[in-house]
Amino acid sequence: MSKQSKKMLSADVIAQNQEMFRCPICDGQMRMVNSQSLICINQHCFDVSKQGYVNLLSRAIKTKYDKRMFESRRAICRSGFFEPLHAIISDKIINQLRTKERFKVLDAGCGEGSQLTNIQEKIIQNTTNTPLAVGIDISKEGINNAAAEYSNAIWCIADIANCPFASHQFNFILNILSPANYSEFQRMIAADGRVIKVVPERDYLKEFRDVFYEGSQNQVYSNDNTLDHFKENFEITDVERIRYQVALDDTLIKPLLRMTPLSWGTTEERLQKVRQMNLQQITMDFTILFGKK
Ligand SMILES: [Zn+2]
Repeated sequence: MSKQSKKMLSADVIAQNQEMFRCPICDGQMRMVNSQSLICINQHCFDVSKQGYVNLLSRAIKTKYDKRMFESRRAICRSGFFEPLHAIISDKIINQLRTKERFKVLDAGCGEGSQLTNIQEKIIQNTTNTPLAVGIDISKEGINNAAAEYSNAIWCIADIANCPFASHQFNFILNILSPANYSEFQRMIAADGRVIKVVPERDYLKEFRDVFYEGSQNQVYSNDNTLDHFKENFEITDVERIRYQVALDDTLIKPLLRMTPLSWGTTEERLQKVRQMNLQQITMDFTILFGKK
């Protein structure tokens, strides 16, 4: 698809859903003008980019996530590392649907968009109900990457602490292995909506942890704080623990190391050790929290 038509297509979808947005500067209503810009009632203006995303940050923010890290994440996602996780999430969403109405899913902290895309595809395969998918991330690299690759969703650079959306908009808010902002989630979730948060568990990438944290206290892992914090904000409707192993080949070790914050603080010696371990498989271990207001 040419960049021009990609931009037009995105602008159209945004225009059809313009009432969903609110200005991140003044909270005012917004509308799409000339298939070009989202403009609020106070004239704050945010352009649709060539790639088809909108930058809705009220100020520029630098993040430590670079292009290579997002490419690594996509490679890992496409190799099926999260398939069982995505299957559970999409099943739960489908089971929760009551009407044939179009519903909205926000992925808060979507990175390069593969997880949202994959979950959306699974939903479409199994129902006649097509969700409107919206992905936001504070990283420009991540959103640029998502919009370049996928035209299934509305992609926005945005701050989860100041989301550019009106209240009670989303039937589902996903927050997968990413920081949360529960007051914003509470504001944006529909009355009967669900917040779905995925947190890593003790054995997530255990084979890496064993090397990186050898002899240090980090080996003892606890999610208690995350769970408590979630419970303070939402009534838990369901909790699922999922643990499985994924076959690993040589080509995946590097991207897997690159995408995980686990490896960023470690020494070159330990990274080398992991690369030479000839790992055949790696453990995935998550808890999925489902909550409502
Ligand atoms: Zn404004």
